[in-house]
Amino acid sequence: MAETPCRNIGGGFLFVDVPNPMYIFNMRKVYLDHTATTPLDPEVLEAMMPYFLQKFGNASSIHRFGQESKAALDESRNTIAKILGAQQGELIFVSGGTEADNALIKGVARNMRTGSGKDHIVTSNIEHHAVLETCKSLEDEKFTVTYVDADADGCVSPENVFKAIRPSTGIISIMHANNEVGTVNRIETIGRFARERNILFHTDAVQTFCKLPVNVADMNIDLLSISAHKIYGPKGIGAMFIRKGVQIDRLIDGGAQERGRRAGTENVPLAVGFATAARLMNQSRENQSHRLLGLKNKLRSMLKERFPFVLFNGHPSESLPHILNISFDSRKIRIDGESLLFNLDLAGIAVTSGSACTSGSQEPSHVLLAMGRDRATAKASIRFSMGNSTTEEDINYTFNELEKIVSRIGTIL
Ligand code: PLP
Repeated sequence: MAETPCRNIGGGFLFVDVPNPMYIFNMRKVYLDHTATTPLDPEVLEAMMPYFLQKFGNASSIHRFGQESKAALDESRNTIAKILGAQQGELIFVSGGTEADNALIKGVARNMRTGSGKDHIVTSNIEHHAVLETCKSLEDEKFTVTYVDADADGCVSPENVFKAIRPSTGIISIMHANNEVGTVNRIETIGRFARERNILFHTDAVQTFCKLPVNVADMNIDLLSISAHKIYGPKGIGAMFIRKGVQIDRLIDGGAQERGRRAGTENVPLAVGFATAARLMNQSRENQSHRLLGLKNKLRSMLKERFPFVLFNGHPSESLPHILNISFDSRKIRIDGESLLFNLDLAGIAVTSGSACTSGSQEPSHVLLAMGRDRATAKASIRFSMGNSTTEEDINYTFNELEKIVSRIGTIL
């Protein structure tokens, strides 16, 4: 490989190697960004195909084409509801996790203000942007929002949530597990507390559905968001759980589809794909979790042994088994985070420095800043997120390439 001193990328200079084309052609590819999205499972595609081609009826039509689609939609809803411990009628299909978060938080907030006059929302400062931006837009509508601080491990303590409650609090929204650092919150405790005080509890379970046990009854959840493309299902579909009896305004006006809670022609092929993906993931959940935790621990030990300047982000044990997030300590090493990711990409390794929505923005992750990392350290971070296809060889290759890149572009202080 030829070495060039630098290349101008979007206004900044990055130190990169320029590989020759044959090298790229033969290059090993390691995808370690399963938290951003996952590839479609071929079995999921197979299950969806008839609903694109032969069984194309509108699920709201009363003729047999429509009824065939409606049956598939109901069955898909049932499959997902069962996994969540919910009733079929409590599950509404939407376009993804972002829509679910928007529809649930805005829908409940607007309804509660008209109904009971409550106008206070409690959330945390490490939520996904789908929740944070929703809350910001509700502040423009004169709702009051308390953003509870996460601790240094990225955990939102139930005690701090309790302290934020006011008589005007109508909804608490705390994510099940964080998408950047993987820390899992004690949501059943928060849910129990909320229920005792007649406050609705929403959780964003986009990163945990079919990866950790999620049961809406056991965990005292009133409202929940999930998405298909994080579990080897298609992009563009998700679902929201709304506990029976919860009053909510709808976000999208139109027809009476999805029990009047989400207008628009039902996307049957995607719903079938979502349910198939959920069924398959749920079946393999325990085995995969065990396997991925082994790979994560291996990578963590190798990094710890080799790089004394690496900090590990996230809770050491209460964390998703497939996410490992690290930072290069700015007090001990100078290394440019973007060059790091770019060089890893050139070596065929796909990782990010935060969530997919913020990577590329050149801004350090709001989650790492909230956990107390300084800006330079937060910027020099990598999130490795493994999936069903990740092997031990992938981990060894990633470690070896990272070692070469760090010694090439890092300066020990
Ligand atoms: N919530 C969390 C925690 C996520 O990780 C994501 C996606 O990264 C979303 C919400 C948004 O989901 P979707 O991409 O389906 O809109």
